[in-house]
Amino acid sequence: MRMKRQGLDIKKVKAVFVSHEHTDHISGLRSLSKKHQIPVYITSHTLRDSYIRIEKHLINSFKEMDPVSIGGLSVTAFKKSHDASDPHSFIVSGDQVNVGIFTDIGFACKPLINYFRQCHAAFLETNYCDDMLMTGSYSKYLKKRISSKKGHLSNSQALELFTRHKGNYLKYLILSHLSKNNNTPELVDKLFNEYAGSTTIVVASRYEETAVYCVEQNGDAKDLYHCSHTEPEQVQLSLF
Ligand SMILES: [Zn+2]
Ligand SMILES: [Zn+2]
Repeated sequence: MRMKRQGLDIKKVKAVFVSHEHTDHISGLRSLSKKHQIPVYITSHTLRDSYIRIEKHLINSFKEMDPVSIGGLSVTAFKKSHDASDPHSFIVSGDQVNVGIFTDIGFACKPLINYFRQCHAAFLETNYCDDMLMTGSYSKYLKKRISSKKGHLSNSQALELFTRHKGNYLKYLILSHLSKNNNTPELVDKLFNEYAGSTTIVVASRYEETAVYCVEQNGDAKDLYHCSHTEPEQVQLSLF
């Protein structure tokens, strides 16, 4: 539905990459892949612990640091710190433009910092505000789990990654995976815009689709521009 509202055709989705088995990332995966016969890239551990049945001929695996080609794009997975069986982050590259998909991470490990530096656009988790989490209604156990090294990235951790390690060509920072109870889009927007510089800050909503951003090479400079339409030859990927 969200894709449809943006004029995106599900038939152009060539692959789905699964980052880990938590429900918020795999619900709907089985029916999506079955209905549209979309290949699913998932590691054997994640598949085992996800308890979902995907049609055998649609299952593909991936290995960390071993790029997979999908159309003209290359998808490289690398390990992330999160309380799941075999969690990975992804870098999607094409035409020498790199887009990072970094959510569900307990802390910014060295590989993440290294890849973040190379990004022209990044989809980065800003899960919680420290104060809201600590003074909020969650149990002690849950507070500990979320803020642990295998939990989620806080606003301040994400901001530190952005201010200390962004590359000169980071054009778009799309902030995502915001907690419903321990964060607000307004807070994140204000916090990051203070330090944005030449980077456009976009806060992804929990409730509606984010606009489509196209990745284009513009002469010598690599440029990303916000577009309202989709070119027919574009390859689309879904990263869960
Ligand atoms: Zn998640
Ligand atoms: Zn998760």
